[in-house]
Amino acid sequence: MSIYAHIQSSVKMEIVEKLRTKDRRAIAKAITTLEDNYEDSDRLLHTIFKHTGNAHVVGVTGAPGVGKSTLISSLVKEFRSRGKTVGIVAIDPTSPFTGGAVLGDRVRMGEHSGDPGVYIRSMATRGSLGGLSKATSDAVKVLDAAGFDIIIIETVGTGQSEIDVVRAADTIVVVIIPGLGDDIQAIKAGILEIADIFVVNKCDREGVERAVSELEMMLDLKEKRTWRPPILKTNARLNEGTSRLADAISEHYSHINRNGELEKRRRARYSEEIRDVVNRRIGEYMYLASGKEFFDEVLEKVLRKEMDPRSAADLILNEIVKFDLRKSNKKN
Ligand code: GDP
Repeated sequence: MSIYAHIQSSVKMEIVEKLRTKDRRAIAKAITTLEDNYEDSDRLLHTIFKHTGNAHVVGVTGAPGVGKSTLISSLVKEFRSRGKTVGIVAIDPTSPFTGGAVLGDRVRMGEHSGDPGVYIRSMATRGSLGGLSKATSDAVKVLDAAGFDIIIIETVGTGQSEIDVVRAADTIVVVIIPGLGDDIQAIKAGILEIADIFVVNKCDREGVERAVSELEMMLDLKEKRTWRPPILKTNARLNEGTSRLADAISEHYSHINRNGELEKRRRARYSEEIRDVVNRRIGEYMYLASGKEFFDEVLEKVLRKEMDPRSAADLILNEIVKFDLRKSNKKN
């Protein structure tokens, strides 16, 4: 091992030790390091990965303004009172509909800022879809390795990308509010299928029972599974119903632990992650192996109709297969 590599690896070990003490700067640095696709990032993941897999990852999703942040803040209070540490990955939607409210929410979460057992990481969507799932799961890994018992992913459940993000969770909580019939329609599109727990928040408002019975009806139509998602009523602003929600979250975790579903979900997640990395790296090796010039040559042939795009791809893949990675010290 070169001296440089040795220094590098001892730095990494130090990060791991600091992570285990929930050192805030180490957590922030580790998340940032993992987000970069360089060697440092690979080495860090290699070092921390064996310390992951202990946290219960909970996704909380719902339309803007339903009270997710308020609810999470209340839930954090509840989990803390039960002696659990909580990490939060909050996806900040850049959507113009939510604008200022999000900032206010972060401030509200600020009530936990002095608590060493709570860590909040905000992430901007910046319009990048696939990247967001990766960034979220990287942040979750770091918080997991840091030993947080519960990791909450907060996201606006409006589109497929957010559904993908929340799939990184073991338990998915979908939050709605009464009086928005359209909302219940909207969650039919995908989210209903993945919800493990429904929360009807703002139960101080009118129409709670109607919202609950609409959800019940929808669940009745679904095929019977071993876990029927409970529908819970909360008033997040007054911390009402959050204790029951914390119970349901823990019950769901025990349930999927017992029946093998947790193992199945994690298997699917790792399988997808490995595939993603392979795809990304093949894309990167393409230029390393065949060179930009070769690619351009092939491209010209396709443009001149001398070759079709699939044969062109096969030709390039052939170059990648022949390519000796060991000769290249440049790596993703
Ligand atoms: P988010 O966009 O889903 O994160 O929603 P917020 O947590 O920012 O809440 C949006 C607004 O709803 C805020 O003004 C909250 O104070 C309010 N709110 C949250 N929970 C409740 C509740 O249970 N009842 C009522 N009446 N208002 C609530």
